[in-house]
Amino acid sequence: MIAVLIIGAVFAAVLAGSIFVFAPHPQEVPVAESPSPSNTPSPSTSPTPRPDAPLKLTFDRRQFSIDDPASLWVVVDKLRPLNPANYAAPDLIQTPVPFVNSPVLRKEAADQIVAMFAAYTAETGNKMQAQSAYRSYDVQVNVYNGWVAQLGQAGADLTSARPGYSEHQTGLAMDISAVPNTCALDQCFADTDQGKWLAANAYKWGFILRYPNGMTDITGYEFEPWHYRYVGISLATEMHTTGIQTLEQFFDLPAAPHYAN
Ligand SMILES: [Zn+2]
Repeated sequence: MIAVLIIGAVFAAVLAGSIFVFAPHPQEVPVAESPSPSNTPSPSTSPTPRPDAPLKLTFDRRQFSIDDPASLWVVVDKLRPLNPANYAAPDLIQTPVPFVNSPVLRKEAADQIVAMFAAYTAETGNKMQAQSAYRSYDVQVNVYNGWVAQLGQAGADLTSARPGYSEHQTGLAMDISAVPNTCALDQCFADTDQGKWLAANAYKWGFILRYPNGMTDITGYEFEPWHYRYVGISLATEMHTTGIQTLEQFFDLPAAPHYAN
């Protein structure tokens, strides 16, 4: 009886082994070759890194382009216009959150805004809303020209970004306000529950406060406690951890207090 059991067990083990041996290993499944002509450069075989990948011990500051307008890390300031100036991201979508002006963002940023707003409400019982998000080149032309007509170019430059130079054109930036809407687009937003919570927590969803207090000589903009920029969780967390507050400092870029001309 025992012998039968042992033989049975051995047989079962062999069978299991056979199954294991003959089961196709996932990495050995042949991948269909691309039908593209052989003289076309094949895509890189290394996996595409993602901004929300786990943090490495040494943070790679060059894993994404800061020049490509489609990059989550694109740096736009008064010395770094979008290139091309009329760039529009292909993945802009309506962001399903409460709003003052109907908010459009790039898909990944929109998803993270939805998650962040929900987390804020779950934690505090309060609400925040979108004040303003994506603005196209053409919209910015109208906004800027309106200010120039009122204030002249010097006055307009203190108030509004020139077309092609606005972070809102990336589809990665949102001006956030409180519900009810107190201190909208005002520095007193920093003292609201929403403003304080965002300053402490936005990095967890991949957003940075783009125009911090005391950094006007670097960013070219006064303290805007309402303006959040999506850069992905890994970079936002790295900036939070290191205490480096601006993209210009993080990427060793020149300070951009003014336009070049
Ligand atoms: Zn803004």
